[in-house]
Amino acid sequence: MRLLPGVHLVGSGWLGFGLSDRDDSHVFLVHDGDDAVLVDAGCGLASERIAQHIDDAGVPGGTVSRILLTHAHPDHAAGASSLAELLGAQVLAAPVTADILRRGDEDAAGLTVARAAGLYPPPVRLQAGEVHEIDDGDIVRVGGIELRIIATPGHAAGHLCFAAQLGGRTVLFSGDLVFSRGRVAVLGTPDTDLRQLATSLRRVAALRPDVLLPGHGTPVLDDAFAHLDAAVAALDRQQLPPPLLP
Ligand SMILES: [Zn+2]
Repeated sequence: MRLLPGVHLVGSGWLGFGLSDRDDSHVFLVHDGDDAVLVDAGCGLASERIAQHIDDAGVPGGTVSRILLTHAHPDHAAGASSLAELLGAQVLAAPVTADILRRGDEDAAGLTVARAAGLYPPPVRLQAGEVHEIDDGDIVRVGGIELRIIATPGHAAGHLCFAAQLGGRTVLFSGDLVFSRGRVAVLGTPDTDLRQLATSLRRVAALRPDVLLPGHGTPVLDDAFAHLDAAVAALDRQQLPPPLLP
């Protein structure tokens, strides 16, 4: 599904468009020239369907050089190793996320608790794999596109957002930090940090993005800053922004 020139949605679950496995986050393909990257990887049960969607977008699978992860939660990261193997790509993540994935630590990724709550079927596993570290201020180049790495903890430790200029517009890949209409996802896991969440929300709102591509739900293709302003207005009232899921 083409969202912008150079950006396709190639994976999406029940909170989105049902393109791949129901437990998948959105998986975005960013491509320019003969290079491409993915933002997030889904839960691993539909990696082949995601690879097919990349092909259908006119981007040969071998073009995808890297998979950037926003955080370690299974709906975003459990598919990283299988997808990396299918595509011959490297996995890039924040140091905290990289540590969890190298060890295949299902407790730290929130998978053990989520599975016990019936949120993921048994085949969803966090396979240990090689991960390269990226961190705040780094730039990942994809052809002529520069993805700027922004540390945005709060929803999860080591959470990253990615910002780019595409066609003169500021695009923010926000993972699970913030969704359309300024909604948030507060899970109450041990690495949830509301103070950091507020700081991270204010930081990305200050970027005044035109386009918001969150990890779930509706992509916002224009005036995205108004959605982030709604989140900041709630914080200014000493309230949490509304939840993604009521
Ligand atoms: Zn998450």
